[in-house]
Amino acid sequence: MHETKSICCYCGVGCGVIIRTDIDAGTGAAKITGVRGDPDHPANFGRLCTKGSTLHLTTHEEMRALQPEIRTERGVPRQPVSWDGALDAVVDKFASIIQQHGPDAVAFYISGQLLTEDYYVFNKLAKGLIGTNNVDTNSRLCMSSAVAGYKVTLGMDAPPGCYEDIDHAQCIFIAGSNTAFAHPILFRRIEDARKKNPALKMIVVDPRRTDTASMADLHLAILPGTDVALFNAMLHVMLWEGWCDQQYIAAHTVGFEQLKATVKDFTPQFAATICGIAAEDIVQAARWFATSPATLSLYCQGLNQSAHGTHKNAALINLHLATGQIGKPGAAPFSLTGQPNAMGGREVGGMANLLSGHRNLADPKHRAEVAALWGIADVPAKPGKTAVEMFEEVRSGAIKAIWIACTNPAQSMPDLKLVNEALQAAEMVVVQEAFRQTDTTHYADVLLPATTWGEKDGTVTNSERCISRVRAVVSAVGEARHDWEIAVDFGQRLAHRLGRPSLLEFSNHEAIFNEHRETTRDRDLDITGLSYALLENSGPQQWPFVTGAVQGKKRLYEDGIFPTESGRANFVDTPYLPTAEDTDARFPLHFNTGRLRDQWHGMSRTGNVGRLFSHVEEPLLSMHADDMARRKLMDGDIVQVTSRRGNLHLRVTASPEMRPGQTFMPMHWGNQFMRGLGANALTINKFDPQSKQPELKHAAVQVSKLNLPWQIVAMRSGEAAHRLARLQPLLAQFDYAALGLYGRDNELVILQAAHHAAAPDALLNEIDEILQLDDEHKVMNYRDAKRGISKRALLHGDHLIGVRLTGETVARDWLKELIAQTTDTKLLRSWLLAPVSAPPAGQNPRGRIICNCFDVAEQEVANEIKLGMDLPAIQKKLKCGTECGSCLPELKRLCAQVTVVGAQP
Ligand code: SF4
Repeated sequence: MHETKSICCYCGVGCGVIIRTDIDAGTGAAKITGVRGDPDHPANFGRLCTKGSTLHLTTHEEMRALQPEIRTERGVPRQPVSWDGALDAVVDKFASIIQQHGPDAVAFYISGQLLTEDYYVFNKLAKGLIGTNNVDTNSRLCMSSAVAGYKVTLGMDAPPGCYEDIDHAQCIFIAGSNTAFAHPILFRRIEDARKKNPALKMIVVDPRRTDTASMADLHLAILPGTDVALFNAMLHVMLWEGWCDQQYIAAHTVGFEQLKATVKDFTPQFAATICGIAAEDIVQAARWFATSPATLSLYCQGLNQSAHGTHKNAALINLHLATGQIGKPGAAPFSLTGQPNAMGGREVGGMANLLSGHRNLADPKHRAEVAALWGIADVPAKPGKTAVEMFEEVRSGAIKAIWIACTNPAQSMPDLKLVNEALQAAEMVVVQEAFRQTDTTHYADVLLPATTWGEKDGTVTNSERCISRVRAVVSAVGEARHDWEIAVDFGQRLAHRLGRPSLLEFSNHEAIFNEHRETTRDRDLDITGLSYALLENSGPQQWPFVTGAVQGKKRLYEDGIFPTESGRANFVDTPYLPTAEDTDARFPLHFNTGRLRDQWHGMSRTGNVGRLFSHVEEPLLSMHADDMARRKLMDGDIVQVTSRRGNLHLRVTASPEMRPGQTFMPMHWGNQFMRGLGANALTINKFDPQSKQPELKHAAVQVSKLNLPWQIVAMRSGEAAHRLARLQPLLAQFDYAALGLYGRDNELVILQAAHHAAAPDALLNEIDEILQLDDEHKVMNYRDAKRGISKRALLHGDHLIGVRLTGETVARDWLKELIAQTTDTKLLRSWLLAPVSAPPAGQNPRGRIICNCFDVAEQEVANEIKLGMDLPAIQKKLKCGTECGSCLPELKRLCAQVTVVGAQP
C-alpha cells in the first residue's frame, strides 16, 4: 500500500487528497484503492465532501476512452487508429483549413478541469503557433463575470481574500451560491466559524431557500436577476445612514459620485418591489454588511451566469469599497470558482480575450510582451471568439474545425439546439477526452484518449489563489496520453507541416510550469519565487510568490493600493437591468439551474458511483406547491417543460425551496442519463457584453402535465458501468426516461421510463438482453396481457439480482432494496412479482439517503426525531453527518421540521 498527496479534481475549493494505491496481484500494476483528506492541506485540513471521498470509486476502465478513434465520414462509427494516424489526420485537416481560410477558421474549446500546464500549452498552440485567439474555455460559463468584475473595479483579476478570512469575518454575505452543495468543505468552515462565534451573521441572497439559505440569519429570496437592484439599494441605505467609510472612499477609490447618483433612486421600498422582498430586510442586510467589523462576501454562479454578470459582480464589490470592507482580515469580495482549475486557466490567459500572466489581448504592450516571451513577431490582435460566439461561428461555417478538450459543451452550453447544430455542421470535431461516452464524444470525428485524475501530473490553483501539485499515482489506461502531451505532439506536427517553429518544445510538465512562471514576472500574480521543488518541500502556496519570498500573500490590497493606473479602485456605475428573457402568458415561470450535493457537472465521473445517486436519484423539476396545484400536478407526475428553444420531460416535485412562479432543475443530467438534452435544452445563449458569460440562471418556461400511462422499471446488479453504457442509447426511444445507479457494495443500474403507449417488444427484448433477464428458463415470469402487465425477476441462489416491471411498477422501491442489500428472498418469493401496492411486512423502502458516508436514510433520521431525539443524540446513534458533514445542513433542517410524536404544537 502506498499513499500519495494530490488534489480533488471536482470543485474550486481545491481540497488536498491522499490517494491510496495497492499493487494488483494479477497485473503487478498499481491501482487506486482509496482516498482520504490531506490533513496538511490548507484548503480542507483533512476533510472531504461526498464527491471527493468517493473519487477512488470513479476509476473504472469501462468508462474510459482507451485508444484514438477516427471516422472517415459522418454517420459511420469511429474506428480505432494509431496515435500517428489520428494526429496526422487532424494535422492534415487543420493545416488545409488554416492555409485556405486563415487561422481564425479553427478553434479550441478547453476546460477549467485541465491542469495549468495543459492550459498553457493549448493557449500557446493557438495564439502563438497557429495565430488565432479562438481559444476559449468552459470557464467562460463559470467565472468570466467574476474576472471582469474584479478587473473593472480592483484593476486585476485577483480574489483579494483567502479561506482563513471565514474565521475572521463577523458578517458573511453569500450571494448566488449554494455553498453547502457547491463548495461543501468551505461551508463546513463557515459552520465551524459560526459555532466559535455565535455573533457572526450570515446573510444569503438566493431566489431559492437552499440548504445554505436555510442556515442564514437573513435570507433575501430575491426574484431572479434582481441582484443589482438589491446591492444598489443596500448602498443607498448605507449612504443614507452614514455607514459608508468616507475616509476609505476618499483615500483609495475613484468614481463614487457617479454611482451615488445612480443609487439615489434605489430606496429600500423601490428595490423591495423589484426584488420581491421586504424593505426592512434590505435595511437589515445593509446594516450588518456595513457596520460589522469585517464582512466577507462569497459569491458564485448566481452572480456570474447572467447577461448582466459583470455589473452584478461590480455592484457587490462597490459595497466593499464603499464600506472599506476589503484588505483586512475577514473582509473581502471573494468569488468562488466552480471548477478545480478555473484560476489556473485565468493565470495562463486561457481565454479568447486574455494573454499569459493576466495580460489583456486588447493591450498592444501586453501582446508585445507575450510575443517577446514566446519568441514570435506578434500575437494576433483580433479578439478570439468566446464560448457562445465560437459555437455560433461553427454553426455558420466561419469556424470549420473545432478541438474540444476535457469538457462537454453538448451538455453544458446554453441553448443546446444551437450547439448540436454547430457540431453537426463542423467539418471536423476533435474531442480530447478521458471518458468514452459523453454527449460531446458522440460528435467526435476524432477521439483522442486523455489521462485524468490519478494519472496526471502538474499544478492547479484554487479559489484562494493557492497553487497545489497534482500527482500521478497510476499509469495511463490504454493508450491515453496527457493533455499537454497531445497538444505538444499535434503542435510539433502542425508546425512542421506549416513550416513554422513549433514553440512547443516541452519535454515534461515541469518545463511548461517554468515557462508559465516566467510570464508572471512583475505581474500581479508573480510566482517567480515558486518551483516544483518548493511545492514539493513546502506544500501548496498562494500567489503572488515573488523571487526571494518565503511565502505567498494571503490577502491583497492591505495597503489600499490597487493595480490600476491611479492606484485607486474604481466604483462602477451599475444601473439595474432586468433578466435577458421575459416571462409572459405563454412562458410564465422562471427556470433556474444549479448543482446538487453529490453530482458533478455532466456526471461523466460521478455518474458512475451508485451511492452518489442515492441523495437525488433522477432529474427532477422543483416547483412551488401552489404552481403545481394550479396545473393539477402531483408529486412524481411527469411534465413537459417548454421554453422558447426546446422542451424536456421530467418528473416534478413540490419543493419548499421554491417561491411561487419559479422552477429549478439540476444541471447535471444530460442525454447519457435521461431522455433529452438536459437543462440546457431550455436555457438562453444571451450573454454579458463585457464578460461574454451566458445567462444560465434564468429562462422563461411553461410546465404542463404529460399523460404517459405505460411505465417500466428495470434493475440489475453487477457490471453496472457496462450495462449503463449499453442502456444509454435506448433512452431516446421513450417519451420519458431516466437512468441511474443505486447501492454501495452491490451497485445496481436502474432504468425507469414511461411512454404514451406500450413500448415495442423489440425494445423490451433489448433491455432484457442487456440486463440478462432474457433467459425464459432462468427468470421468474408474470404476464397479464389483458392489463398490459409483464414482470420478470432473476435470482442468484436466494438473492434477487434483476427485475423488470412493465405496466405496474409500484413494487420498485422495496425490490430495489432487496437487490442492493442482497437480502435473502426465500420467504419473499411469492411477493416478488405479485400485484401488490404495498411491500410485505418488514420490507419498507428506505427512501432518500441523506448521509452517504454512513448510508443513513431521511426516514431513519425522521423516525428518531419523532421519538424525541435531538441532533447530537441522532448523530451518536446513526453517525450521520459525523464524517464529511455534507448532510449536516439537511439534518438540521429535518430536526427543525419533523415534529416529535406527542409534542404540543
Ligand atoms: Fe472536492 Fe468536495 Fe473539496 Fe470540492 S469540496 S474540492 S468537491 S472534496
